[in-house]
Amino acid sequence: MQDIAKNLLTLRHRIHEFEQRYGRESGSVSLLAVSKTRSPAELQTAIANGQTMFGESYAQEAMAKMAAINDLGVSWHFIGPVQSNKTRVVAEQFTWVHSVDRARIARRLAKAVPQAVPPLNVCIQVNISAEPGKSGIQPHELPELVAEISRYERLRLRGLMAMPAPAADVSSQRKAFAALRDLYDGLHAGFPEMDTLSMGTSADMEAAIAEGSTLVRIGTAVFGPRE
Ligand SMILES: *Cc1c(COP(=O)(O)O)cnc(C)c1O
Repeated sequence: MQDIAKNLLTLRHRIHEFEQRYGRESGSVSLLAVSKTRSPAELQTAIANGQTMFGESYAQEAMAKMAAINDLGVSWHFIGPVQSNKTRVVAEQFTWVHSVDRARIARRLAKAVPQAVPPLNVCIQVNISAEPGKSGIQPHELPELVAEISRYERLRLRGLMAMPAPAADVSSQRKAFAALRDLYDGLHAGFPEMDTLSMGTSADMEAAIAEGSTLVRIGTAVFGPRE
């Protein structure tokens, strides 16, 4: 638990350092703490040390934690595969979904967002390394899904997300992130309100920031290795 405080400090420092190294505006990269598999007590420690954004991959697990934590200052981001039978729970409990990759899921989420809350922030997940069996759409499917999401008042398209195949060094990691940024730039003219490139994990944060990430999703480097 002691480590979580220290890890968060180190991470904020490194993010700042990479912003400077790669000519990014100071404060332009947000830290999403990926808290899947972590206990409410671990999240509380992160919260006590100033962390406010958390990413969860499994709806059931996340709901138990939300109930235990019950802190209005925290924002919950869904980053896992969205199953059809979980769209209601996800739309009701989360303010962001980073992993929309099907029209059907977009439609179901849009229908389920409660009227009393602002539109649900969504990113489209792209299978940027073209890995068979992995989540995310192919780049050529992007215009159609963007058009679909844009039809729904209850969804707000914020940008793109990807989880590239692992690569050994920063310069090879940068290639996949550059490809996602190109797709994002291509869309941006038509959707100037888009502001989010959700890319970079503990293993490839530097490369992601170098290529324009606005939000890094970090689990291991915050909480330590997962069991
Ligand atoms: C688990 C996960 C992460 C965090 O990975 P770490 O290597 O623990 O930093 C980021 N994004 C997604 C989609 C994940 O599932």
